[in-house]
Amino acid sequence: MTMAMTVDVEVLVAGAGPTGLALGIDLARRGVRALVVERQDRLSPGARGTGLQPRTQEVYDDLGVLAAVRAAGGPYPPMATWRDGRKTDVFEMVERVAPTPHTPYADTLMIPQWRNLELLHGRLAELGGAVAFGTELTAIGQDAAGVTAELTSAADGTTRTVRAAYLVGADGGRSVVRRHLGVPMSGPDLEPGAALLTDLRIDGLDRDHWHRFPQPHGGFVMLLPLAGTDHFQCMVAPSDAATPDTGPEAVRATVADRTHLTTDQIREVLWTSVFRPRAGMAERFRDGRIFLAGDAAHIHSPAGGQGLNTSVQDAYNLGWKLGQVLRHGAPDALLDTYGTERLPVAAGILETSTRLHRSGSLRRGRDLHQLTLHYRESPLTADHRAGLAPNALQAGDRAPNAPCATPDGTPSHLFDAFRGPHFTLLALGDTELPRPADEWSGHVHTYRVGGRTPDLTDPEGHAQQAYGEGLFLVRPDGYVAVAAAEPGPVTAELSRYFPPSGAARAA
Ligand SMILES: Cc1cc2nc3c(=O)[nH]c(=O)nc-3n(C[C@H](O)[C@H](O)[C@H](O)COP(=O)(O)OP(=O)(O)OC[C@H]3O[C@@H](n4cnc5c(N)ncnc54)[C@H](O)[C@@H]3O)c2cc1C
Repeated sequence: MTMAMTVDVEVLVAGAGPTGLALGIDLARRGVRALVVERQDRLSPGARGTGLQPRTQEVYDDLGVLAAVRAAGGPYPPMATWRDGRKTDVFEMVERVAPTPHTPYADTLMIPQWRNLELLHGRLAELGGAVAFGTELTAIGQDAAGVTAELTSAADGTTRTVRAAYLVGADGGRSVVRRHLGVPMSGPDLEPGAALLTDLRIDGLDRDHWHRFPQPHGGFVMLLPLAGTDHFQCMVAPSDAATPDTGPEAVRATVADRTHLTTDQIREVLWTSVFRPRAGMAERFRDGRIFLAGDAAHIHSPAGGQGLNTSVQDAYNLGWKLGQVLRHGAPDALLDTYGTERLPVAAGILETSTRLHRSGSLRRGRDLHQLTLHYRESPLTADHRAGLAPNALQAGDRAPNAPCATPDGTPSHLFDAFRGPHFTLLALGDTELPRPADEWSGHVHTYRVGGRTPDLTDPEGHAQQAYGEGLFLVRPDGYVAVAAAEPGPVTAELSRYFPPSGAARAA
């Protein structure tokens, strides 16, 4: 039975994985009317991507979900290698890094993806957003004014039509949106071979190590005790069979056969899937009013734990730009910078994860933390200062944290000032702030940091050490858009986000 009904939303998001949920949260807090549709009748189960990199933790801090995620997750334990039923060596696979005033979240956090999704979904609901489960995007078309999408109910096969100003395909590696658009995806070949990925309850194996069982003829079994649960994530790679048997008894037998565990010790098989590593990138991330984000735009080997992180950061890059266009009348060209900025990032990460995949190296260092990713070459980036020291913070860089204080001595952080959907303008030292304009007043939070009349004092000089002196306009996604020594250039750059004719529009 087919039922035609038109629902108008500003942004339709296909897929409630990490990308779609993060985007849903960002749009909800901007008052953008978004609809997130998910073809499954629930969030995806399975521990899959467990590593939350420091930069993604900063994003989660801003999205208001970090405290819950840190409470639910934990650090990666050291890795223990087993041979002939004995641990032969123990080492730190994931480099441990101490926090600093500029980088409060310095370690990779482990959290099963299903739990991560639950917490993101909870945050979305808290902000008044929702996911339409059991709703599959089945067809799309677009014209100059918007996107028309056909949604099919998994329950009864009925279809309805939704009209949206924009569509974001956050529908995973096999993206229907990407295929409808005919956007090619290409990338390096990873060796063929299926891995068995399964979440288990196991007796008789300690939870203080990530257990690795190298196999005599190549390949390995890895058993990771998942923080906040009594589960282990198990990867058998590669599996001998072309397509591994995912039945619970076969899974027990496969794991027991390759470890010292007995089938009885593998108490429960909670979730199983077959995973074939692939690598590739879409040729473009935008087609008219339709965007690709997350795995729909780029897929990586899991080596290095970059996929989920890069996906969430796509959403974070796109969310505020959609907000500026829909709420503040910023020109549509702002949305082109989503691809301009994210394509090179995705390409770099694809290269890194492919290199790690091929090398078989187990060590995971701070180069994977995604803290040094920058948009220095972006058309949105403008540095109006001359004679900078080579290691100085530049426009395009991630805006670091610094512990500060309010004038009455209450401790505060720059990250507190950044948290929320607004821009932040920092005036370091005694640099003069620009006069507020109607278009951006209230949407750009200004702070004099240090200097004679501070809004935030810099008692230990951490802000000055990170930023130097001058004006720094920090984008809602935490990157320095503009650095200048005086207000003129900042006012000019702000008009690109808050054009004079585009007074704030209601939802
Ligand atoms: C073994 C393994 C280990 C990994 N380890 C890591 C790691 O440590 N760190 C890391 O960062 N990443 C890791 N990843 C990658 C990570 O899981 C993915 O990058 C991440 O899930 C991508 O998120 P996404 O939201 O873009 O896509 P997905 O998570 O695939 O979500 C897409 C959603 O869209 C839905 N959908 C699909 N089609 C439609 C449609 N037509 N209509 C409506 N809904 C639709 C799907 O049901 C799904 O819920 C790992 C992956 C694997 C398999």
